[in-house]
Amino acid sequence: TLDLFDITAKRAALRPDRCALEELETGFRLTYRGLEDRCARAAAVLADEGVGEGDRVAVLCRNRIDFFVLLFAVAKLGAILVPLNWRMPAAELKPLLADCTPRRVVAGQEDMATAAAASGTPPLGLDDPGPHGFAARLAAAVPHPGRERWPGGQVWYLIYTSGTTGRPKAVIYTYAMALVNYVNIGQAIDLRGDDRTLNFLPLFHTAGINLHTLPTLIAGGTVMILPGFDADAMIGLLAAGRLDTFFGVPAVYQQLGLHPAFDTVDPARVRSWGCGGAPLPDALAERFFARGVRVCNGMGMTETGPTAFLVDPADAPRKIGSVGKPQLLCAVRIVGPDGRDVPPGETGELWFSGPGVTPGYWNRPDATAAAFAPGGWLRSGDLARCDADGYYYIVGRLKEMFISGGENVYPAEVENVLVRHPAVLEAAVTGVPDDRWGEVGRAFLMLRPGCAPPDPGDLAAWCRERLAAYKVPKSFVFLDDFPRTAAGKVQKHRLHDAGGKS
Ligand code: ATP
Ligand code: MG
Repeated sequence: TLDLFDITAKRAALRPDRCALEELETGFRLTYRGLEDRCARAAAVLADEGVGEGDRVAVLCRNRIDFFVLLFAVAKLGAILVPLNWRMPAAELKPLLADCTPRRVVAGQEDMATAAAASGTPPLGLDDPGPHGFAARLAAAVPHPGRERWPGGQVWYLIYTSGTTGRPKAVIYTYAMALVNYVNIGQAIDLRGDDRTLNFLPLFHTAGINLHTLPTLIAGGTVMILPGFDADAMIGLLAAGRLDTFFGVPAVYQQLGLHPAFDTVDPARVRSWGCGGAPLPDALAERFFARGVRVCNGMGMTETGPTAFLVDPADAPRKIGSVGKPQLLCAVRIVGPDGRDVPPGETGELWFSGPGVTPGYWNRPDATAAAFAPGGWLRSGDLARCDADGYYYIVGRLKEMFISGGENVYPAEVENVLVRHPAVLEAAVTGVPDDRWGEVGRAFLMLRPGCAPPDPGDLAAWCRERLAAYKVPKSFVFLDDFPRTAAGKVQKHRLHDAGGKS
């Protein structure tokens, strides 16, 4: 049943001297042999802390090598890693800790205080320089032999969903899911054993682990790590030709595209530019195509492991707005409210199935039962349609759709029109109650640097030229920034509290 063997031990045997992981800011790097040794020692330290099979280990840290050391160390013990969001205050972390009940909490220096406040006990400190700190204990440890096989269906780690639509839920990740994601990503980007990729997306979201770090390590490639996105460092890597594959969220592409050196650096070395996690505005994609960068939109969920869709680079410029086709080990349906597949071209809810889909949420049988339809199909909560060539388009979230004068309005479509306006940098549209129409659109806007707020009448006219009248927002609110999740996603349920000028 798709069992994995000890990945770091295998890689150490197959490619001992190749660089596995490198922290660009500290210069700390490990070969596959070094990685295996550190993981085996870390497993011994965790075992010494009382961590055994099935136990959870919670971790709060910025992007760094030792996060991945812990990830492979728990696998050697059959324990379960739970990365937690270090942007959350202790009060927000407490219910998550009560939910996953870790045996031990581990933290980096920056997050020690939060971790201690949230868990009520001093965490194991990754940067503690003392004799009981992580480094000293690694040095003194007898490397743990680990288990021979990692059963495919067993839980490896938990990832909390982004919390875009409500309280985060811990998605179960099994070993089999990691293998399936390796296949899905591997075939989508032609992953090679000598590929170098960049890790910087937060580790408590699936992308920080799986796009493309884990697949690259399984393939035997090299992962460079930055503690967070840094456009200057990224430009430097592009200029030096040190990057083969890249995955970012739209907010990262937005930053990169605004960088003054972006128009002069040669991005040709990068073979694969993936983007996903939130809608990629057409205008942003076009900005990159104009520079010869084929940004490939992809779609997935924490629950789908995550890779479900990715556009093929050859098709990207002629399928703008699409998330591509369902990947190799992923099946999809588009389903109407009656539970039947909608006719071709029509919009319905996207359902997923396949070996990369989670078996469910940790400790949440209610949420798991609600998420899966009969036959094991996962209801995504997203609306999608498929064109005549088999390309899929995400229309928006089911929860965000609103009805104005009896017609469905999908905010993403309206946002796409608004961000084409020369003064608008980002847009978020929601439905608000209206006596006459039931609901009408309200647009929240962030302006481009140096732009004055346009007249609302002009914005409405801009929309009316490009959209049916019922889709045109009736009010416009200007904000300096939007309330966002750590991944940069706009939290629409919080927008109305965000203030702003209309
Ligand atoms: P929560 O489930 O806690 O409300 P979330 O759904 O944002 O949060 P994730 O699992 O991180 O948590 O995100 C998956 C969702 O992101 C998808 O269901 C979809 O709504 C959205 N998404 C991902 N990629 C894309 C994309 N390329 N275009 C549009 N939407 C996307
Ligand atoms: Mg979700």
